Amino acid sequence: MRTYLCIVAVGLAALVARNASATDPPRDEVGDIGKAVVLSGTLEFLWGDPLPLGSGPPRVCYQLFSDDGERWDLRVDSQRIDLAGRAWTFNRQRVVVAGHVLADADAGIEVETLALERESDRDDTERFRASGSQPYLWILLRFGDNPSTPEQPAWFVTQALGPHPSLDHFWREVSLNNIDLLGSQVVGWYTLPQPRSYYVYDIDPNDPGDEVNFARCRADAVALADPDVYFPDFIGINLCFNGVLDGAAWGGGTNITADGVTRWYGVTYMPGAWLGWYTQGILAHEMGHALGLPHSSGPYGQTYDSQWDVMSAAYGTCAQSDPTYGCLGTHTIGYHKDWLGWVPAEHRHVVGSSPEAHMLTLYDLAAPAPPGYLHYVRIPSGLNSFYTIERRRWTGYDQNIPGEAVVMHHVDYAIDDHARVVDPDGNGNCNDAGAQWVPGEYFYDGAKNVLVSVELADDTRSLVTFTNTPRSPVYVDLANGGYEDGSSVFPWNTVYEGYSAAIPAANVYIKPGSYPGSIFMTKPVTLRRNATSGVVVMGQ
Ligand SMILES: [Zn+2]
Repeated sequence: MRTYLCIVAVGLAALVARNASATDPPRDEVGDIGKAVVLSGTLEFLWGDPLPLGSGPPRVCYQLFSDDGERWDLRVDSQRIDLAGRAWTFNRQRVVVAGHVLADADAGIEVETLALERESDRDDTERFRASGSQPYLWILLRFGDNPSTPEQPAWFVTQALGPHPSLDHFWREVSLNNIDLLGSQVVGWYTLPQPRSYYVYDIDPNDPGDEVNFARCRADAVALADPDVYFPDFIGINLCFNGVLDGAAWGGGTNITADGVTRWYGVTYMPGAWLGWYTQGILAHEMGHALGLPHSSGPYGQTYDSQWDVMSAAYGTCAQSDPTYGCLGTHTIGYHKDWLGWVPAEHRHVVGSSPEAHMLTLYDLAAPAPPGYLHYVRIPSGLNSFYTIERRRWTGYDQNIPGEAVVMHHVDYAIDDHARVVDPDGNGNCNDAGAQWVPGEYFYDGAKNVLVSVELADDTRSLVTFTNTPRSPVYVDLANGGYEDGSSVFPWNTVYEGYSAAIPAANVYIKPGSYPGSIFMTKPVTLRRNATSGVVVMGQ
């Protein structure tokens, strides 16, 4: 039995869609309906993004590539996945699935339990790291009943490997020069053996719209391109069609057997519409999913509302648009860059559980930082959550972000799309001034002991202070060479630590002495001498 089916989960509601492959047995040969099964294999994610972005909720398709070479589509509500340990835990992992073969679709599985095959894999994020050349294969596909050639192959070669704004140029910059797309190739146009209605049709009787039969698309595309390429030369595949699909563009990963090798490939399904492969920012978003990235968003339950991330609103404000390749993708957020292993250790600062108070210098997230500058700061806010701090400017592909500012996200592993813009004004817009931290503004989460203040921003840097031990009052004593937490017993031994740790309006009591380093101060605190005599000297 060889069956394909895609179950699309929307929020908590699971929709059922059937994807019978070109090699499916006839329906009456599927004799296992209702049968209990336990299968092991690799879990694959495919994200669907309705176009224009935000015109509908995102979709996620979960598939199991089982050890006997079958692909099973899984009907599992996202709540169950969350309870089992969050979706990203399972993406691209070896899993064991138990459930029943669906009666209302060819051979999908109604999942009852989902577990990692090896519990030790739970915290493995290494699998998402990407470095070096990532050759992608663009396969240009005409539907059998649509002879149009929207653009010549050379157009796609330039889109892949040309100068700004090619995807090669984009990902080099976004990855801080960790990856490129060298080795990418464009093949086609090929004419698919069947009309569009064979690939895109109303698979799910419970859903009025059309769905894409990914298995049919993939099988025929691979067969058509096979004589012209050696698939294992590539990391990923962009399937570019000459017509629309199901109203969405899709990106994720899948195992493919080609040229005698069964292997994981990043894959995108790009519709031939203005908001499809024509638009660089949309293709960049789907390639982000192919790299394993989830979405980020504002805190308002709207997946596509953050103009700070190519993995949310994709091309942000579209203030910068290329006449040929459309609205350009913004950078992805610091958290995602860190996830993919792109932020060098010397340019990231991860706060632990010990008391810390710092004044740090942030550099544009869009360009490699000089020594001593940071791209990314991470401050814990709980066992599985933290705040992140980054500096965004209209640099490089960040022309389409909504402003120049320090931007914070709250990352929570308990939700599928981990990162949400910190936007205290709660006005439903995570792109406006409320989310743009500028000098003189501070963020204080008293419950989580996180305090961040922006002290200065100029063309080359942003100075921020932060602490995981906010206090009022705060004590400073140059003489303390041991443990510090800003209390009167364990005072900080520099003024900038004391200032950084001070809740707004706090007093900072400083023992007389000659303190090194100058500080920028915008937060309202009062520096007081902690003695009846003596002199406090700063900037020495
Ligand atoms: Zn998406």
